[in-house]
Amino acid sequence: MSIIFNIQKYSIHDGPGIRSTVFFKGCPLKCKWCHNPESQSFEREIMFYVDRCIGCNYCVNECENGGLYLEDGNIVFDKEKCLGCGKCCEVCPTNAREFIGKHMTTDAVFHEILKDKIFYDESKGGVTFSGGEPLSQGSDLIDIIKKCKERKIHITLDTSGYASEEILKQVCENVDLVLYDLKVIDNEKHKEYIGVDNKIILENLKILVKLNKRVFVRIPLIPGVNTNKKDIEDYIKFLKETGGIEEVDILPYHNISSEKYNRLNKEYELKDVEVPSEKMLDEIKEDFEKNGFKVKIGG
Ligand code: SF4
Ligand code: SF4
Repeated sequence: MSIIFNIQKYSIHDGPGIRSTVFFKGCPLKCKWCHNPESQSFEREIMFYVDRCIGCNYCVNECENGGLYLEDGNIVFDKEKCLGCGKCCEVCPTNAREFIGKHMTTDAVFHEILKDKIFYDESKGGVTFSGGEPLSQGSDLIDIIKKCKERKIHITLDTSGYASEEILKQVCENVDLVLYDLKVIDNEKHKEYIGVDNKIILENLKILVKLNKRVFVRIPLIPGVNTNKKDIEDYIKFLKETGGIEEVDILPYHNISSEKYNRLNKEYELKDVEVPSEKMLDEIKEDFEKNGFKVKIGG
């Protein structure tokens, strides 16, 4: 069984043409700016939309485990006591409590993808596997990809590359395009902002290039994290040494997802980071272009 948090239909930002994007839930990285915090945990989670709540307290009365209780008239959620049964979501009349994450068989995921094959064929689109980190559910992913390949569906993988070489190679055997997220080259910064060492990520990118895979490198630009002169020089040096990168996509930081952190009862640590200016984006784009890279701002 895979755990999936969304299958987005008619997507136009995750590869060529019209696509279905399958978002696997769970990621071994902990990027402080993550735009999809609901994708990080491998477990099902509850999102609470305070603006939808009408205060009926059905959810509190339904919870038998102490996961929800009232304090001064307000509903308090105790993460430690919540067993993830989802009963509070089922009784909520306004969908203020939403269960994120669905267990699906590989057949069920494939059938969802297959429903829109006509759109992929007409638009030269296909399916994109994203996350979370899709490689973390490698064996299921390999199975779904094989089924898609048999039906001649174009396959894009959006990955951080944080996986074993074996899984990466097996998954990518049938992948047509890889969107490779390269967050920070400096390993100390990588550990600070992402929580893991980046050696595997850098090595796996080289492996994909050696395998002659089509690779677009995606760089999320986060002011104060990876935008100083040295950061950009490090990117350019590493990507030139690696060679074989078809396109560099610069993804400017935004904080519109910060509200999701509140809904998940999580803390958003980058509250004070500003979005990159047009000038900064243009200068960084130019730096890459001067070094021979094809560059796009945005995904
Ligand atoms: S998911 Fe179940 S245990 Fe958790 S708060 Fe809701 S009812 Fe309580
Ligand atoms: S059941 Fe839904 S609407 Fe009612 S109090 Fe709970 S979250 Fe609010």
